[in-house]
Amino acid sequence: MSKLFYQTKSPRPMLDRADGIYMWDTSGKRYIDGSSGAMVSNIGHGNPAVLSAMQAQMAQSTFGYRLHFQTEPSEALAEKITSLTPEGLDRVFFVSGGSEAVESALKFARQYALTQGEAQRFKVISRYPSYHGATLGALAITGYAPMTAPFDPMMQAMPKIPAPRAYLDGLDIDDPATGRHYADMLEAKILEEGPDTILAFIVEPIGGASTGALVPPAGYMQRIREICDQYGVLLMHDEVMTGGGRTGRFFGAEHWDVTPDIIALSKGFGAGYVPLGAMIARTDMVEAVLGAGGFIHGYTYAGNPLACAAGLAVLNEIEANGLTQNAAQMGDALHARLQSLMQRYPLIGDVRGKGLLLAFELMADRGTKEPLPAEFNAHSRLVDIAYENGLIIYSRRTRGGISGDHFLVCPPMIVTEAQLDEIA
Ligand code: PLP
Repeated sequence: MSKLFYQTKSPRPMLDRADGIYMWDTSGKRYIDGSSGAMVSNIGHGNPAVLSAMQAQMAQSTFGYRLHFQTEPSEALAEKITSLTPEGLDRVFFVSGGSEAVESALKFARQYALTQGEAQRFKVISRYPSYHGATLGALAITGYAPMTAPFDPMMQAMPKIPAPRAYLDGLDIDDPATGRHYADMLEAKILEEGPDTILAFIVEPIGGASTGALVPPAGYMQRIREICDQYGVLLMHDEVMTGGGRTGRFFGAEHWDVTPDIIALSKGFGAGYVPLGAMIARTDMVEAVLGAGGFIHGYTYAGNPLACAAGLAVLNEIEANGLTQNAAQMGDALHARLQSLMQRYPLIGDVRGKGLLLAFELMADRGTKEPLPAEFNAHSRLVDIAYENGLIIYSRRTRGGISGDHFLVCPPMIVTEAQLDEIA
């Protein structure tokens, strides 16, 4: 019996090896990695260029503590990533994962507010549902009761607004009035809480696991930016899942041409080769914090040269092979395949997403949007059926009268049309 206690309803097979979009267990059975793990393995498994960059770095050095040495891989990766960020966001703080990136963003924003003489600003508004990480700071701004409730007494309660689930509310996602309707909930919340107390608003440009690839309605992201500017609220984009090309643009927010003040990045950044993440912030904010004595924060493994060498090789592979463009093209092709499944299976109530961040949702009734009964346990049953058939997909059930069982179908960005047919 395993000594590990990760949470899986059914015992999972032992992984033997992985290559491209495929994974094999020790019995020799092959699986398609149809969710890139947890939307992580964006460039597929066993990429030779990344492996050789890692081997070369391992021969050189695997660890250099960031307060003792600068390292070439971390400098090079910071240069590379800031060549992809919006103008003005060109200072980077490396971390080892998504929760750490979000946690760093929270603490950095707070310290910045202090430099501006705004000690009363500490509340971070987020959305319900949402997922921003497992650590207590990131969890406090996560809108997903099944994961947050046991820890409520240990956290500072933070205000939430509803995520713009136009498909459940029967609103037209392409109508700017819909975008305004949901974005204005942010303004209402800011006014309710007291504008002077609001430090930041955090948003996943396209929803991840909690909403199942929720795409915001027309005008939403732009209106959010305006509202933040109006009330001096910092705008944080949680690009942990959307960053790295998966949505068909390097950053998800590029679809709406909106620039945040802080970006949290991880998952596809290290693409599963190493634990890697980053918090990227506006230069003037960083200078203000450094000028006031520095950022009181840091992790032992931050800027690890091996992780940074791998991250640099991942970004180079994405660029050299046009993988962001492939994610856009293959995403459209997979979207069409999922939509044709919708014609065949009335239980599929919605198909959504952008690029290769795609999801479908099962419902008891497509017309009323009524979810399947909880006891039906569709989210884990369908995943198990797919598993038996050699396909890995990622599911979540978001309860509380808000949604049903959704399934993320997010293969690596190297996927081909023929492989999409296999997945469908
Ligand atoms: N933010 C978002 C949008 C995520 O999807 C996740 C993970 O799923 C996180 C933060 C937390 O990242 P990690 O699990 O790497 O700590």
